[in-house]
Amino acid sequence: MAEGAGIGGRAPLPEFGRLLSRRVLIRGGLTATLGWCIASKTTHAARAGEAGPCVDPELLSGADASLRSAMEYVPLSDDPATRCSGCAFFTAEDEDARCGQCAILSGSVEGVGNCASFSPRE
Ligand code: SF4
Repeated sequence: MAEGAGIGGRAPLPEFGRLLSRRVLIRGGLTATLGWCIASKTTHAARAGEAGPCVDPELLSGADASLRSAMEYVPLSDDPATRCSGCAFFTAEDEDARCGQCAILSGSVEGVGNCASFSPRE
């Protein structure tokens, strides 16, 4: 082995290289932690009823996606009085009616959502 050769025959890192590697690792760790915090906050917001993902739009069939589009379904309505949780076609899936089954859209919808077929529950 040549003098000054490091592990695996590579030249050992100079002090600057070691500090740089440590910085890269620390920065990577902080970035991963920040990403986890953002994902966690998003999930928490969804569970709090702020337009959470009761259904993944990517998993809808083409027909279901077209029906939702035709009915102008939105996962978060601006008007609390016309949200899915107050619609006659909505059957809650959980205690707080965050998610529910819609008889019109034949699938899960957000309790805070709305579509053109809204009909107030009597
Ligand atoms: S009909 Fe429309 S407003 Fe009523 S529950 Fe279904 S998606 Fe919501």
